[in-house]
Amino acid sequence: MEGIELSISKPDISKEQLRRANWMRFILPLVLFFIVLFYETREHILTKGEDVFDVNFTSEVLFFGIIGPSCVFLVISYVIALLRKQTDVAVELESLNKNLEKIVAERTATLAERNSELAEANLNLQKLDELKSDFVSLVSHELRGPLTSLNGGLELALQDAENMPLKSRRVLEVMAHESERLTQFVQTILDVSKLSAGKLNLNCGPVAVLPLLKRATDVVLMSEGRKVEWSVPGSLPPVWADETYLEKIFCNLVMNAEKYSPGDKPIEIAAEIVDNRLQITVADHGPGIPEGMQHQIFERFQRVERGDQIKTKGWGLGLYFAKTLVEAQRGKLSVKSPCRGNGDAPGAAFMVTIPLADEVPEDG
Ligand code: ADP
Repeated sequence: MEGIELSISKPDISKEQLRRANWMRFILPLVLFFIVLFYETREHILTKGEDVFDVNFTSEVLFFGIIGPSCVFLVISYVIALLRKQTDVAVELESLNKNLEKIVAERTATLAERNSELAEANLNLQKLDELKSDFVSLVSHELRGPLTSLNGGLELALQDAENMPLKSRRVLEVMAHESERLTQFVQTILDVSKLSAGKLNLNCGPVAVLPLLKRATDVVLMSEGRKVEWSVPGSLPPVWADETYLEKIFCNLVMNAEKYSPGDKPIEIAAEIVDNRLQITVADHGPGIPEGMQHQIFERFQRVERGDQIKTKGWGLGLYFAKTLVEAQRGKLSVKSPCRGNGDAPGAAFMVTIPLADEVPEDG
């Protein structure tokens, strides 16, 4: 296996060495015994002329010739037993080691196989995703043309609305409204698919935020007559952003505030510098967003389940789009709800934080 080496070393004792040590434990005591016998015989019998059965001779031969060599025999036997045990354990370890290496090699091969299967599946998924994005863009592009003609035609027809019967006028107005909604939907789908495919080009530069905010608010609330409470300092430094998409982000937040809060309550827009960044807050007096949903609403097709879903039409794409766009401009989009102490209408406050133009390096 690459990278992992399992090694438990076996002691350097061969079987031959053990066999020799085995012989030594008999031979060494015998040699010792004969040496003792030789010296005692020379000392007691040859020099002093003592008898073979003399107590001195017999006891010294017994003591030095038997007990000494016996101790040597026992010690060598003990050492040999220890060495045998060590060799057995090492042999067992070596076989375990081999088994382990085999298992590791098998598992590694299985893992490598799974890895390549996963890589292949991933590649297929990426291809499918690309196909899906291409298909979505194609359909959206194809829809945009007829929708533009439809919108133009309806607008033209509505110019003459005063001369029409009331019922026909209402039908035309509803058609114009729905056609406009469909156009926006197609545009959002196109933008989202471009953004996911990394094909949405941002054109960043210094942007004055206040006129942009006012324009977004006017566009969204034009026909609604909704009150807006502004809390913005006299002058604001420019931010580093893409003007078109920053306006879209603000439009989205103001549109949500308008959609999800009662019409008789104002929408509050504030701007302030926080930690060298510009923070824009769009707050409302609506039902707010349950804590458990505050992360999800920024994901694709996520909507808060409420009884009034039919009244508030949508696709759950706006906040996903806004957040991804803000982050692509080095900013942050977050939500705070409840944003006030009113139990009936806790409200939601969406905060966009964008870097100031002079805080971004030239290549940014
Ligand atoms: P859409 O509004 O098209 O459904 P969004 O992505 O803009 O999609 O919003 C996702 C969901 O977050 C909405 O469906 C709504 O349930 C909730 N939401 C967004 N803004 C607000 C708000 N200001 N107050 C209450 N709920 C909100």
